[in-house]
Amino acid sequence: MSSSVALRLPSIDGLLRHPACAPLAERYGRDSLLTGLRQLLDELRPGVLSGQLAAVEIGPEVLAGRVGERLAQQQRRQVRRVFNLTGTVLHTNLGRALLPEEAIEAVQTAARYPLNLEFDLASGKRGDRDDLIEGLIRELTGAEAVTVVNNNAAAVLLTLNSLGARKEGIISRGELIEIGGAFRIPDIMARAGVRLHEVGTTNRTHARDYQAAIGPRSGLIMRVHASNYSIEGFTARVATAELAELAHAHGLPLLEDLGSGSLLDLTRWGLPAEPTVRQALLDGADIVTFSGDKLLGGPQAGLIVGRKELIAKIKKNPLKRALRVDKLTLAALEAVLGLYRDPDRLAERLPSLRLLTRPQADIHAQALRLQPLLADVLGEVWQVSAVEALGMIGSGSQPVARLPSAALCCRPQVSKRWRGRYLLNLEAALRGLPIPVLGRIGDDALWLDLRQLDDEPAWLAQLPQLQVDR
Ligand SMILES: *Cc1c(COP(=O)(O)O)cnc(C)c1O
Repeated sequence: MSSSVALRLPSIDGLLRHPACAPLAERYGRDSLLTGLRQLLDELRPGVLSGQLAAVEIGPEVLAGRVGERLAQQQRRQVRRVFNLTGTVLHTNLGRALLPEEAIEAVQTAARYPLNLEFDLASGKRGDRDDLIEGLIRELTGAEAVTVVNNNAAAVLLTLNSLGARKEGIISRGELIEIGGAFRIPDIMARAGVRLHEVGTTNRTHARDYQAAIGPRSGLIMRVHASNYSIEGFTARVATAELAELAHAHGLPLLEDLGSGSLLDLTRWGLPAEPTVRQALLDGADIVTFSGDKLLGGPQAGLIVGRKELIAKIKKNPLKRALRVDKLTLAALEAVLGLYRDPDRLAERLPSLRLLTRPQADIHAQALRLQPLLADVLGEVWQVSAVEALGMIGSGSQPVARLPSAALCCRPQVSKRWRGRYLLNLEAALRGLPIPVLGRIGDDALWLDLRQLDDEPAWLAQLPQLQVDR
């Protein structure tokens, strides 16, 4: 190319008037287009001056095309839908429980219109947002009173601070757990202003250990459902009922953090037994805390249920105001709880329970159906097979229990030293799809557990776009 003919970038005005840019202005607004064009021209200028760019690279159509791509990229939401084919149903990093239609409708109404969030329609006076769901939760758990906060971590923090500040909280060493995301019982206790008094040992704690710890400085006894790990073998744990008796004999409240907790006995659906909130209260726990978006299958929330005078004390804590739930959460929670009134149809209506109880045969049939289609797209380097797989509940529920499932197992047919790279490339390509597909790598293969592949048409529709780097 002759350097004697100086190349010039098109002017901004010229570009704005160019027909290739008009649809962009229409779609993204003139200001965004202008900013995009300016940025692009600034980036290209050095290349033009140094003669490294050819005339075709700075034609108006080319520039419009590049700006259009960028604007589209910018406009893409950061909060995005994905396919969770990891095999973990209540995946904390992927948003845990999916809401039922009833809850989605309730959220839409709450978002769109004014509502009686803190207004008592019967009396015309100011109301309390907890009252909107108190009746339902009492009915479903047998609790005397209820309050709801942002998540279960908040529920534990608020309860400890309200009932045990400046006093000692007695807890078994086996229950000083860490839950993902830096929630550690000893740290939460410290932040709540409760002095930790640990008793027993990691694997065994007896009633006499608690007994020996009770003294004038004691404020409460806490019990934490060790949801995300299990200790097997030579173990001992005091039953809630026995611990409650001991606590009450000394005038102390017993708190039970159930973590996931469940409102109904899950074994009726063939799932592993998880302690129910009702049972913990019947056994004598004074306060029970649990999550809204784990096994309950609702929105992120922390439910605090139990004795009336203790709940009243918790509600008076100024921290309650800082940790309260918003109207969308309350709307969703009420709708989800409403479904529990009809347990016979719960597994059809509540997505998390429907997914958790999906029969393996059904998932396997789906794997067989999809196997040839994925194999076709991936080409012969990949061996794709429909296999049995084991998933899990997730969110710390039943860490050792496995859900018999089925998966598409993708194995690269290359020598061992290349396998890792191939797998990472496939993983990245799946993640790069319009609706990212998330699986898991293990045992020299990439596994797509199909338990949660509800929307098969959307998954199939984007399959032709899958392009894996070699
Ligand atoms: C999950 C869990 C929590 C935290 O609940 P979030 O709703 O995630 O804040 C607290 N305690 C236990 C035992 C848990 O399993």
